[in-house]
Amino acid sequence: RAESAEGPAAESTNDAAFDRARQVIPGGVNSPVRAFRSVGGTPRFLVSARGPYVTDVEGREYVDLVASWGPAILGHAHPEVVAAVQDAASRGLSFGASTPAETELAELVVDRLAVTPGAGHLRGASLVTTRLIDELRLVSTGTEATMTAIRLARGATGRDLVIKFSGLYHGHSDGLLADAGSGLATLALPASAGVPAPIAGQTIVLPYNDRAAVEAAFAEHGEQIAAIITEAAPANMGVVTPRPGFNAFLAETAHAHGALLILDEVLTGFRVGPAGFWALDAFAIREEDDGSRHLVSPTYLPDLVTYGKVIGGGMPLAALGGRRELMEKLAPVGPVYQAGTLSGNPVAVAAGLATLRLADANVYHRLDVVAEAISDAVDDALTASGVPHFISRAGNLFSIQFRETPALDYAGVQAQDAFRYGPFFHAMLEQGVSLPPSVFEAWFVTAAHDDTAVNRVLDALPVAAHAAAA
Ligand code: PLP
Repeated sequence: RAESAEGPAAESTNDAAFDRARQVIPGGVNSPVRAFRSVGGTPRFLVSARGPYVTDVEGREYVDLVASWGPAILGHAHPEVVAAVQDAASRGLSFGASTPAETELAELVVDRLAVTPGAGHLRGASLVTTRLIDELRLVSTGTEATMTAIRLARGATGRDLVIKFSGLYHGHSDGLLADAGSGLATLALPASAGVPAPIAGQTIVLPYNDRAAVEAAFAEHGEQIAAIITEAAPANMGVVTPRPGFNAFLAETAHAHGALLILDEVLTGFRVGPAGFWALDAFAIREEDDGSRHLVSPTYLPDLVTYGKVIGGGMPLAALGGRRELMEKLAPVGPVYQAGTLSGNPVAVAAGLATLRLADANVYHRLDVVAEAISDAVDDALTASGVPHFISRAGNLFSIQFRETPALDYAGVQAQDAFRYGPFFHAMLEQGVSLPPSVFEAWFVTAAHDDTAVNRVLDALPVAAHAAAA
């Protein structure tokens, strides 16, 4: 292999880059879904990204609908985020000590999660502010955030069992891999090897959206259940919408039995809206008999919430938050241990702060507009090609289900013509649009998707829909 003074020569094709990677990296990837297993073909090796575009080693540019699996709500390499990162980096990459910026980020998040329903046009709107969390602990990945939330719930309740739902993904800690979505769904693995049975046995896996199953689990094990963990809106088996009131039901049922609700907003948090899916979901609008409409104060409050992705603006940063009395069970105040050499890393915190500060109402409006334009066009293109499908949405997250009726759970999601996604995906890729390489993943838009980028996606859809019909 040719090497210059600058180091090894860059690979000139994706095939060459993949072949080389496979020699030294398992499967050539550092996270399984990147490997294109479910859609076939060679993964694209990326060298740069800007705004709504990514560029591969062959110099081909794609409109990106992966957005680093969620973080890039502003688009890639937003100049102000990059400047904040450069500035922080110039002052030191990691201190292993506290920084004022960590407090600023925690304050910003606590404030964002204090929601005051009071839209002017709604008569009788309550003006009471609901604070979702008092304190926030920063970690480096979503996996750590949910793992710590589970440990905290167990430490606080003195109980061991945890309820999770099939097809939902909360990162790759041992106890949360049972029947998980995302990469396990893509590879059709029911669980991971290497998880000891006694650990898996601490997780009760239930079908999503199924109230009776939750009630039955509490009837049988109520005294031993520490927590229910759920994605605020599932988006790791593709998008599945919670039935109206399902999250509120989970909170009520958990609390009635002395258990906690952990709302995992790693994917939805700060993406579907400024205060995550909870704020979209919990503040119901009630219509009275006389036709007047009231915003109702939250129908539920989770005990712990987890964040990742957007909170780090593309850098490794995640968090868990909750009420003070619960959060102060964490070390060093309380007995539940959690730590991290790079937790609250100053460069990551700078990226997160810059991203959240820029993510204003205009950004969320654009995300919604782009998501609607693209998802409606996907719907139309598949209809025009006669492909049975349903476009599943949760806020600005969406995905295709190749079945006619909405799937409500993992079994439903698996009962679709998943084989149609590979041809659809590759037809889009060939036309310069990069989609998530699995039907079991959500599509992610960014506020940098301008009309040019959106139109490139729309123009590519008829050919892809035709390929899916074959
Ligand atoms: N929870 C949810 C809902 C996620 O979507 C993810 C990742 O996709 C995680 C947790 C794990 O986060 P990470 O990949 O940062 O460990």
